[in-house]
Amino acid sequence: MSELQGEIVTMKYALVCGAGGFIGSHMVKRLKSEGFWVRGVDLKFPQFAETAADDFVVGDLRDANFCRSIVDRRFDEVYQFAADMGGAGYIFTGEHDAHVMHNSATISLNMADACHKRNIKRVFYSSSACMYPAYNQEDPENPNCAENSAYPAAPDSEYGWEKLFSERLYLAFNRNYGMECRVARYHNIFGPEGTWTGGKEKAPAAICRKVAEATSGGSIEIWGDGLQTRSFLFIDECIEGTLRLTRSEHTGPFNIGSDEMVSINRLAGMVIDISGKRLSVEHIPGPTGVRGRNSENSLIRDTLGWAPSRPLREGLEKTYAWIETQVRAAHNRVPAATPVRAVS
Ligand code: NAD
Repeated sequence: MSELQGEIVTMKYALVCGAGGFIGSHMVKRLKSEGFWVRGVDLKFPQFAETAADDFVVGDLRDANFCRSIVDRRFDEVYQFAADMGGAGYIFTGEHDAHVMHNSATISLNMADACHKRNIKRVFYSSSACMYPAYNQEDPENPNCAENSAYPAAPDSEYGWEKLFSERLYLAFNRNYGMECRVARYHNIFGPEGTWTGGKEKAPAAICRKVAEATSGGSIEIWGDGLQTRSFLFIDECIEGTLRLTRSEHTGPFNIGSDEMVSINRLAGMVIDISGKRLSVEHIPGPTGVRGRNSENSLIRDTLGWAPSRPLREGLEKTYAWIETQVRAAHNRVPAATPVRAVS
């Protein structure tokens, strides 16, 4: 506590789990800009920039003792982003199912318990649109992802089943232990400083990379027929929605996503247009997930008085510029970023 011109100013404390990842590292920056003292935790430091956290602890959240050790004080806000995740090439092949389920569920169980034992109330949990039933997402033009359409449950991936389990876990801690956990279902978040290569990247980053690497007059490959539809939310609006929900009196689950639905072909067309190159699209077999998915934003708009509103193209322009720089730096063999100081 400090005194500023006679006014008592109380320092606010936040804990960000998964702070070495895409959304977590952006959240740390935002919380620091608001004056929070922030502890970040992850298996690794952020890959593309120095962490902005006051304290960054490298460790494994599957270890319950480690979780208790990092929740060693009062935190006003805890953000639980840590999970074993990736794009379609990681989630839908089936090869990583046991890992994804076991790792992410263990992290959720440990962190819910550690926060409860320290009497921490406000814990945000990031679920995913992947928990919605596959049977409501077969028509690419008319998917149903309203929050109340979640049951009977039938996610199309084990990743989605685990998200459903974990969101129910945090809500059960609210009911039985008086916690105030908040749950959002994110829909495809993208932006600079996200994974863009290596197999865990998602569609916008993968397409930006392919376009940045292609020579004008050539082509890029797209998995499937490209008619599958999705919406994509730029990172800044994801962070804004997450903070608004966490600090509201509403528990969720709420969708946090864009409702500007586009086909993957349209997404590729936008990126090609931004690049200024002449490129064609070649469709090849690959994992694609459900045929259609879009964020349904009525509930969050009616309840929080806010919903994402920025156009997809605006975020794509920023993301393409960043990935193009990464691609160019990689080709020139110039280190594109802070070296990864991975521990395990
Ligand atoms: P990310 O992979 O960039 O970040 C997750 C971080 O968790 C990684 O840095 C990873 O090292 C860390 N982690 C994994 N296992 C850990 C462990 N055992 N101990 C400590 N740290 C561990 O992913 P992201 O895109 O930042 O996503 C954050 C959260 O949002 C995840 O829970 C994800 O499922 C959810 N989500 C993301 C999206 C999206 O489009 N990015 C969509 C829906 C839901």
